[in-house]
Amino acid sequence: GKSLTDQDNAMDRLNDIKVKDVQGLPVVVQGTTTVNDAVVTMFLEDVGTLAVVDESGYLEGIVSRKDLLKVTLGNASASSMLISLVMTRQPNIITILEEETVVEAARKMVHYQFDSLPVVQATDDPNKKQVMGRITKTTMTKLLLEAATKS
Ligand code: ADP
Repeated sequence: GKSLTDQDNAMDRLNDIKVKDVQGLPVVVQGTTTVNDAVVTMFLEDVGTLAVVDESGYLEGIVSRKDLLKVTLGNASASSMLISLVMTRQPNIITILEEETVVEAARKMVHYQFDSLPVVQATDDPNKKQVMGRITKTTMTKLLLEAATKS
C-alpha cells in the first residue's frame, strides 16, 4: 500500500492544477434557440448544461436538463419557446476563471449544488464575461481517479 505521504502528495497536486488545464470546450447556444433545438444540442454534444451567449460570446445564461424538463411538462407548445425565457440568467450564474484552481471549482460546485460551471474570462465590464470552457463534476471525478492511481 501507499504511505500517507504519497497520498498527501497526490492530493496536494490538485491545488496546483488550474481550471484551464482540464476544462472542456464550451457548448454554447444563443438565446433565440428554441427549446427543441436546445434538447437536440444536449443529445448531440452529450452534455447536461448549455451556456447561452450573445453574438460576441458573452455569457447571458445557463440552461440545464431540469430547466427544459420543467418547461416541457404539460406545455404542448414548449418546444418552440425560446430558451432565453427558460434559462437561468446573469448576474445569477456562478462562474469560474481559467486561472483558478480545480479545487476552487469543486468547492463552488459542491457549495452551490450545480453539475457544471462555465469557465470565463473577465473583461473591464463586470457584466461581460467571455465564455472559454466548461468544468463539470465528471472532470472532478476523473481528477480524483488520477490522483488515487498515480504512483
Ligand atoms: P440539472 O438540471 O441537469 O440537474 P443543475 O443541477 O446543474 O443541472 O442545474 C439546476 C439549476 O441550476 C437549473 O435551473 C440551472 O439553470 C441552474 N444552474 C446550473 N448551473 C448553474 C451555474 N453555474 N450558475 C447558476 N445557475 C446554474
